[in-house]
Amino acid sequence: MNFNLDALIRPNIKSLKPYSSARHEFTGEASVYLDANENSLGSPLPKWYNRYPDPLQAQLKEKLSHIKQVPPQQMFLGNGSDECIDLLFRSFCRPGVDNIIICPPTYGMYSVSANINDTAIRTAPLLDDYQLNLAHIEQLADANTKIIWLCSPNNPTGNDLHRADIEVVLNNFNGLVVVDEAYINFSRQATFAKQLADYPNLVVLQTLSKAWGLAGLRLGIMMASPEIIAIINTVKAPYNIAQPTQDLAIKALDNMADVNQMIHLIVDMRNALAEVFEQMPIVEKVYPSAANFFLVKMYGAKQVYDYLISRGIVVRDRSNVQFCDNALRITVGTEQENTQLVDAMADYMDLLAAQNN
Ligand SMILES: *Cc1c(COP(=O)(O)O)cnc(C)c1O
Repeated sequence: MNFNLDALIRPNIKSLKPYSSARHEFTGEASVYLDANENSLGSPLPKWYNRYPDPLQAQLKEKLSHIKQVPPQQMFLGNGSDECIDLLFRSFCRPGVDNIIICPPTYGMYSVSANINDTAIRTAPLLDDYQLNLAHIEQLADANTKIIWLCSPNNPTGNDLHRADIEVVLNNFNGLVVVDEAYINFSRQATFAKQLADYPNLVVLQTLSKAWGLAGLRLGIMMASPEIIAIINTVKAPYNIAQPTQDLAIKALDNMADVNQMIHLIVDMRNALAEVFEQMPIVEKVYPSAANFFLVKMYGAKQVYDYLISRGIVVRDRSNVQFCDNALRITVGTEQENTQLVDAMADYMDLLAAQNN
């Protein structure tokens, strides 16, 4: 590998003089803050919400750093992973010039963000077992390929990508390799965040939206080399993480034991649900999952979807997605919700049987 970060950055970003906010220019302790045009009298909310939040979220990163075993200067926090994804495009991909590689079926935001940033999308579809097609990826990469997007466990298929395959990509590609680990807490795979020192081109994405149960907070975590993080920090909006998000996340992170318990419960329920679905005559295949959802290939997926809607149950219809035909993606619910789903499926199959008689 011949990794040269300097050559990857968009020239306008390399020469960017970032906005310098009030909270950035003065970081010491003072008792009178008259530097940021805030309302010094207060706000309708209690506490310090009249003040701008810490632009670099030091306290929150400190806490995350202990949990993730990654130094704060190798972390960027985004308004959801979706902000992290967009910032990677804006920092590295020259509109109309550069390209990225995605491996569908995968998370939709990579291509949406690519299109917003006018970056060409090259696709190396996953193989039949939803693993990487390494030869195809190698064939697609050229001098203008800035980022290869990998998602493990993958959404919507649910499986882990083989670790050795990800390592091959990391070892042979001179651009950035993003490993999106939104569902890593449900997987038996170790995070790639532990290997940041081995791979200067590695970017790991995680989020509080899934296992931590905090999709409403909007907090995504990007982990990479200090150099990559420094670039992203020049491009980000000055106060991208709201104070309530910082406060609540700091509080939530004290409850790791509870979260781990939820994760175990969700994994058990996922395995049980998958087994039940496997027995259904209309199910062709339940794909193995390392996440909090599973993908099911069934006969007449669209009809099943519509029937479930009529019962007030919404699953994700992936039946029209390329390489996912006739598949529904089902998130694990509560015990009671899962029972409702299984009951509805049983009623649907009764209905089908009655029609066929
Ligand atoms: C849900 C999900 C995310 C999380 O996005 P947030 O913006 O952090 O909520 C990221 N990547 C994948 C693959 C996802 O499925």
